[in-house]
Amino acid sequence: MPDFREILGERPEGCSPSSPCGICDRCCVQIAQAARLEDAVHYRGKLHDLVGAAIRAIDETGRVHLVRGANNYAVKGGEKWCAESDADKKLESLAQRLGSLLVIDAIFGAATDDVDRITSINDLPTDVSEPPSTLHPCVGCREHFDGHPFIQLSTRYVTAGFNDGGEMTALEEHTHPAMMNKWRSTVPPTPSAPPIYSQALGLRPAF
Ligand SMILES: [Zn+2]
Ligand SMILES: [Zn+2]
Repeated sequence: MPDFREILGERPEGCSPSSPCGICDRCCVQIAQAARLEDAVHYRGKLHDLVGAAIRAIDETGRVHLVRGANNYAVKGGEKWCAESDADKKLESLAQRLGSLLVIDAIFGAATDDVDRITSINDLPTDVSEPPSTLHPCVGCREHFDGHPFIQLSTRYVTAGFNDGGEMTALEEHTHPAMMNKWRSTVPPTPSAPPIYSQALGLRPAF
């Protein structure tokens, strides 16, 4: 069983997790939203351009870790990065520090609920029959995660939309293969499934 005490001291008051991973999805979404409001930077300075993310992962000893990240696009035309890749960089350096492989249980995203904005950020192809109601990882992040050693077939993407009042108005959830399939027209399918480290490590995905 995971050691709940290892959750980076970020477990919110009042979170009584029903899942064995120690912190519930809803709180992880709120942590992504906190990263969005506190850390995200966009040159336009508009709330609807800010994105936050959190990644919940388990190490080889079963401890649960949570990292958060935010998008940064401080200068028009300058360097920029996504919330998901910001969180992932932190996760990768955490794995190095721990000297442990990590299994990503879920990737959380918090962004605007403005569908026009979502469509333009996601660069939505015209042939997607069901446009997402929340912001999904961009094509670069999807390609990165598709080949990521910590991703499992059971890894979930939990994406939330918030209105300008800070209220969550939309929530979607996809497994890794479902997310990849949804965007198949823009991401070539991978020839083989990603390695499932939880099995190699003898861990049971507990979710
Ligand atoms: Zn909670
Ligand atoms: Zn991205």
